[in-house]
Amino acid sequence: MKVREDLGDLEGYHSPQVDVAVRLNTNESPYPPPDAWRQALLDELSSLPFQRYPDRDATELRTAIAALHGLGPDSVLAANGSNEVIQALCLAFGGPGRKAAVFRPTYLMHSHIARITATAVVEGERDEDFGLDLTEIDRVVGGEQPAITFLCSPNNPTGRLEPDGAIERVLAAGSGLVVVDEAYGQFAPRSAVELIEPGRPLVVVRTFSKTWSMAAARLGYLVGPPDVIEAVGSVLLPYHLDAMKQAAGRLALHFGSEMEARVAMIVEERGRMVAALGELPVDTWPSAANFILFRPRAKDGEKVWQELLARSVLVRNCAGWPRLDGCLRVTVGTAAENDAFLSALEEVLA
Ligand code: PMP
Repeated sequence: MKVREDLGDLEGYHSPQVDVAVRLNTNESPYPPPDAWRQALLDELSSLPFQRYPDRDATELRTAIAALHGLGPDSVLAANGSNEVIQALCLAFGGPGRKAAVFRPTYLMHSHIARITATAVVEGERDEDFGLDLTEIDRVVGGEQPAITFLCSPNNPTGRLEPDGAIERVLAAGSGLVVVDEAYGQFAPRSAVELIEPGRPLVVVRTFSKTWSMAAARLGYLVGPPDVIEAVGSVLLPYHLDAMKQAAGRLALHFGSEMEARVAMIVEERGRMVAALGELPVDTWPSAANFILFRPRAKDGEKVWQELLARSVLVRNCAGWPRLDGCLRVTVGTAAENDAFLSALEEVLA
């Protein structure tokens, strides 16, 4: 028995789940969801007809999500985390003989999932400061004509927004589908959802894992023109979204103002952390997300990561990733967690 040859050299995408006091490595929300949401979910679960399959179309959930964006349910598809949305996009629009374009450094799962679905990956490069030059879009999208182009705004792990005009440039350079991953969209000042319109091959991916404090629930969604949503829906398994998750997501949307308050706290803490990092011997990049990429100037990134871990502070080690030599990424946590991180880092760099 032999596994597919093209899977042989794929490396997994993992962050170690070690037991530490301060966990700032996976961009989760540091705050639990509101107690009232938990109670509403428990109430609903107590009468849920578990003997029945769930609503296959998740209509109520999709209607509620779509309303957030001023759209109808046929413009939204929900799945088990935005990673599953990305997988479904690759299955529907990628596959053998087709290409997906990414601009490095970016979220590694875009190319990883593309390869798993036998979609060839073509890579463009961001500039020194991880910005995206529009002529690079012309080179890669115009030259390669990928079936899918992934943008990520704010980009993970850099935190930078895609530049003005990037989406329009990809649309003009090729005829494939443009996917804008907005997993961190709520922390940013603008969204590509406003650019979605019938006949335009543009979709936006979002998640409940970050802002909505629901990483454990595994819920993400896609917004796009109804014909694209229908095509992506056709590759999902029947009843892929269980009834508990549908209820969890639907009820969460009743707590929009609590979620906005959490985003505001995180954005404020982000500002405080950027200012504090500015006093230390590290380079940082402007972040529109709930994390900050930084590079120690005089000490090896890998070593700094180890020494932070020895102080029970876990950040993301990007030091060995392509284009990210010596870089680490820290998630914005609670004020106390951020203080613990900052004082550990100061000690390590002293
Ligand atoms: N997109 C980006 C850019 C991410 O950073 C993440 C989470 N690390 C995801 C998608 C996946 O999120 P989830 O599957 O939890 O919705």
